[in-house]
Amino acid sequence: MLLITRTFSSFFFFVTIPLVLITFTSSHAHPHPIAISSRSMADMERFISAGRGSNITGISEFKKYLWRFGYYLNDHNINITSTCFTDEFDAIFESALISYQRKLGLQVTGKLDSLTISQMITPRCGVPDNNGHTHMHSVKNFVYFPGKPRWSGPMPTTLTYAFSPEYTIHTLSLHQIRRAFRRAFTRWSNVIPLTFVESDDYGFAEIKIGFYSGDHGDGEPFDGVLGVLAHSFSPESGRLHLDAAETWAVDFGESWSEVAVDLESVATHEIGHVLGLSHSSVKEAVMYPSLRPREKRSRLHIDDVRGVQSLYGSNPHFTSDLSSLQSDISVNQAPPPPLPRFPFIIVLLCGYVLSFFIVSGP
Ligand SMILES: [Zn+2]
Ligand SMILES: [Zn+2]
Repeated sequence: MLLITRTFSSFFFFVTIPLVLITFTSSHAHPHPIAISSRSMADMERFISAGRGSNITGISEFKKYLWRFGYYLNDHNINITSTCFTDEFDAIFESALISYQRKLGLQVTGKLDSLTISQMITPRCGVPDNNGHTHMHSVKNFVYFPGKPRWSGPMPTTLTYAFSPEYTIHTLSLHQIRRAFRRAFTRWSNVIPLTFVESDDYGFAEIKIGFYSGDHGDGEPFDGVLGVLAHSFSPESGRLHLDAAETWAVDFGESWSEVAVDLESVATHEIGHVLGLSHSSVKEAVMYPSLRPREKRSRLHIDDVRGVQSLYGSNPHFTSDLSSLQSDISVNQAPPPPLPRFPFIIVLLCGYVLSFFIVSGP
């Protein structure tokens, strides 16, 4: 029985979850999914001690993963394709792995340690990590999209947003959705000279919000429960898409699902993309690419604030001490759901968000 449970758990963990690691982004969308192969727990454990010189079947999948997120081309300027990777833990892979660990805020070991593997099998945003304009200052880890696009025009200004009347969900009321987004927009408008106003006119709204299932026409199909949670487009596209298959929650005290995802946290992150921010290396930042189930991380971190203010300037009414925003993270304290079937899922970072490099038209 134990074996069956373990096998099933392993299947869920290493088959279902990695399937979400398949998205690709940007104007040069990849036609084929890239996933770390499904493996049993025993197989995955073999990688944990892997270091330079190791040769283990499946290392190539990790290479593809790092290649896909920009850790090969940027660091080595080598035009490698995903089809030419071997299973040897070579120096280039080690270097790419170190860059990855550094970028994601992991302990830099240069090895496939358990935390690194956990992060790599975690659903995440499809934006290559080394494809943005990163501020390397010691306290600035926010990143822009290439070209530093932002909503143009003199500040202060107002942007309208609207919810698709067609692409919506029914597990939350429109009132609950609107409240969550209103709070998310307000977090940003509190710190920059931008005001967001909800509009009933979806067609003319500058920011268009919708819940979509599977393939929804932009080349980045959603993938069902967990994994890909949402994706959005850089300025001035205004498109903000959420995966309708998620168990979206606005109150974990009422939503007992172990795969519940906090709508406000994801909304706040996606609005950050809509405004022009890419992913941050700061784990506590709203713009860090991942979010665990039942985790709430919607308050702006000092890194988020500095990033967005460098694009738009400060809201003249913003008087908060930036230092007080440090470690401004809240985790829901609601008790765990009764008799969880997949307790291991709590270790997963499931906040997958994907954004795109869209060059605004003339
Ligand atoms: Zn989409
Ligand atoms: Zn993102």
